[in-house]
Amino acid sequence: MNSQELFEESKKIIPGGVSSPVRAFKPYPFFVAKGEGSHIYDVDGNSYVDHCLAYGPLILGHADKTVVSDLTNQLTMGTAYGAPTENEIKLSREVINRIPSAEMVRFTNSGTEATMSAIRIARGFTKRDKIVKFEGAYHGAHDYCLVKGGSGAACLPDSLGIPLDTTKNTLTVPFNDEEALTELIEKEGENIACIIMEVVMGNIGCVEPKDGYLEFLRKITEENGIVLIFDEVITGFRLATGGAQEYYGVTPDMTTLGKIVGGGLPMGAFCGKKEIMELVAPNGPVYQAGTFSGNPISVQAGLSTLKQLNNDFYTSLNKKGEFLRSNICDIVDELSLDISPVGLGSMFQIYFNPNEVTNYAEAQESDSERFLVYFRQLLKEGVFIPPSQFECNFISSAHKMEDLEKTVNAIRKSLKVAFE
Ligand code: PLP
Repeated sequence: MNSQELFEESKKIIPGGVSSPVRAFKPYPFFVAKGEGSHIYDVDGNSYVDHCLAYGPLILGHADKTVVSDLTNQLTMGTAYGAPTENEIKLSREVINRIPSAEMVRFTNSGTEATMSAIRIARGFTKRDKIVKFEGAYHGAHDYCLVKGGSGAACLPDSLGIPLDTTKNTLTVPFNDEEALTELIEKEGENIACIIMEVVMGNIGCVEPKDGYLEFLRKITEENGIVLIFDEVITGFRLATGGAQEYYGVTPDMTTLGKIVGGGLPMGAFCGKKEIMELVAPNGPVYQAGTFSGNPISVQAGLSTLKQLNNDFYTSLNKKGEFLRSNICDIVDELSLDISPVGLGSMFQIYFNPNEVTNYAEAQESDSERFLVYFRQLLKEGVFIPPSQFECNFISSAHKMEDLEKTVNAIRKSLKVAFE
């Protein structure tokens, strides 16, 4: 069956035909045959340079040889034990040695579980109920955080099935706005357990904190006894070996990880100051658990991946990012387009928006229809990116110069088609 036929079949038994909503782009998503290095192959015989990279985890590209070989070995020794392993200690050490805020670590099965648990612990630690998130930030699909906010919508859930009673404790403010947060903390500070944030907002495209904003957040949270949580599910091990907190030089109280930490397998983690992490069961009164947490397969994939991520790795990876971004800027100039290329490290995106985007509301002003024309043309040119400008595109170490040149040419052609 081809992708179109498979999608028809799939829709009959899987809601929307997909296991996660963003995958269901129109008219139908391609169905994957395999991934290899920088490429993903569909069942229709097409190959694509992959800049979606499973939405971030595949920093080494698909089916990295070392990861596959270590995994194959581990598979023969079992897939789940319900008992601890030495590799969990090794992986915890890798995390602690790299992530500045990490003194202790607990593994989960996804980024969603990691943020959900970190928020519970922050609430347990402060004995406060309210949390603050930024408009448009995504921290996974659990009830505490499915609140996008936006003007006048603070505290309203983003989905049916979430009680207002749950989200009434979730307050939202615009990103990069010191005044709005100061005002909120003046009013609610003593009830706020934590501020959870994507340091670089990868779920509205790619928005960086303004100069001094993270330092402001660090100061105001310390002054008000609020736990500062960096959700580094995307940026952890992506921007630098120590994540965005190393990149920007600001250390939070807690950090949530996902994606790369599992080396391409399902995994998340939360880590932070010992005095906070000691509250987690069985040491303390904050319950957190998982049948597959720390399973030997994900842990092995994480270990085999992290071992390859040294400073030279990031120097080389980020150079590829610079190459791509500077070429995109040249194309935008060459074609005299009023759009805004953004990105840093190995992350990139283009806002179909003439203005600089610094928060969710500004991102929302971008031209989504035109972006879809661009996305579809990129597919025709053999390049796969997420089907929305409110996601981020990635580069892996498996991307070679010839892949990036192909991407640059495909972007030129696709922008021309989108704006003709
Ligand atoms: N936090 C951030 C910043 C994310 O981007 C995501 C997923 O994209 C999550 C949390 C949730 O992670 P998962 O999809 O592994 O549950």
